Amino acid sequence: MTQSRLLDRSRRAVWHPCTQMKSHESLPLVPITRGEGVWLYDDNGRRFLDGVSAWWVNLFGHCNPRINDAICEQLETLEHVMLAGFTHAPVVELSERLSALTGHQLGHAFYASDGASATEIALKMSMHAWRNQGETGKDRFISLAGSYHGETVGALAVTDVHLFRDAYAPLVRAGTVVPSPDARQAEPGETDTDVAERAAQALEHYLAEHHDEIAALIVEPLVQGAVGMAMYHPHYLRRARELCDTYRVHLIADEIAVGCGRTGSFFACEQAGIWPDMMCLSKGISGGYLPLSLVLSTDAIYDCFYDDDVHRGFLHSHSYTGNPLACRAALATLDIFKADDVIHTNKARAELLGDATREAFAEHPAVRHLRQRGMIVAFDVDTVEREFSQRFFAAGLDQGVLLRPIGNTVYFMPPYIVEADDIAHLVRGAAAALKHCIG
Ligand SMILES: *Cc1c(COP(=O)(O)O)cnc(C)c1O
Repeated sequence: MTQSRLLDRSRRAVWHPCTQMKSHESLPLVPITRGEGVWLYDDNGRRFLDGVSAWWVNLFGHCNPRINDAICEQLETLEHVMLAGFTHAPVVELSERLSALTGHQLGHAFYASDGASATEIALKMSMHAWRNQGETGKDRFISLAGSYHGETVGALAVTDVHLFRDAYAPLVRAGTVVPSPDARQAEPGETDTDVAERAAQALEHYLAEHHDEIAALIVEPLVQGAVGMAMYHPHYLRRARELCDTYRVHLIADEIAVGCGRTGSFFACEQAGIWPDMMCLSKGISGGYLPLSLVLSTDAIYDCFYDDDVHRGFLHSHSYTGNPLACRAALATLDIFKADDVIHTNKARAELLGDATREAFAEHPAVRHLRQRGMIVAFDVDTVEREFSQRFFAAGLDQGVLLRPIGNTVYFMPPYIVEADDIAHLVRGAAAALKHCIG
């Protein structure tokens, strides 16, 4: 009874994100009271294995003792201070360590709270950097078909997901969309490198004509998450880097979802052997604990703003910029990467996840394009069922797994602490949910 009261109160008072609220007339909200490791618990003793890392943010499980301790310790000394005119050890240390992780290619960290803010910062920084160099015409942006870089009005300019953008079209100064290197688009006989090259040629064609008005190309390196885990060959990133250099256009890597080890390397760009001019991080950077985002940039970008004239500075801010608690959570997260050699140990974990998925689904008559990049495994389901995603989600909950397909794409993106039996539970739950939905 208390539970249904809570659900009613939530529906009345809480406007839930990315949700048609009326759908909760038939699809109940899930009340979570507690999290531990890969599990989320409701107050009826049900538990769900978090197969989507709490919307792609959690890296080392819920209520991780090491991150909890770091935050508690920070809480005893400094909860927050403004970052304009002030500084503190956690933000300095985090900036230095992230710089070191990029081999000091991206040595300047600008902070915000959410991913979309990081996108907006990168767009503003790019355009302003050109302007400070006297190039006032370079104020437009390019993104990939199916791109997702957040949902604030500025970020929607480079987000090519119609469901999120169309209603707000009059507010949005939409950028140009160029073909995605999505490997699923391979024609018969084409490899994923061929698809990447084809997309790079389309980019080249566009830049050759329009580079004078383009400030930056923004990409989700290797995996376009929100469109349905579209994966592509690193060749595209290498070509994009070359083309951006040739045509004097910034390359912005949005590693909000793919950074922090998700694709098998700490940064996805490492797999292409390139560095962008600016890189956005959020989601996993705080271990999935607190809102924290940042934009890392090169010396060349930073130097465009360094001047006696205040107007040439980057005059952007958010109240919680560089929050010490969030930075400490991030430092504890980086400590775990180092102490547990996570990038290395995740290789075996990713192999288990991939093998188990292939074994359960590769031969399934409705499964298409089973694919993997590091700790992300996905496949498409050939069905005309319009409510597939919601039905699969609900059926998964009945099996004790939290999986939330994007359209017809089922994906696994678990925290980096899943063990073999967790993976077996996840895959078994998904198989049962699929059977429930399409027979
Ligand atoms: C989630 C996400 C964002 C937006 O982050 P928010 O914190 O939700 O604003 C931007 N880009 C990518 C690639 C994302 O996955």
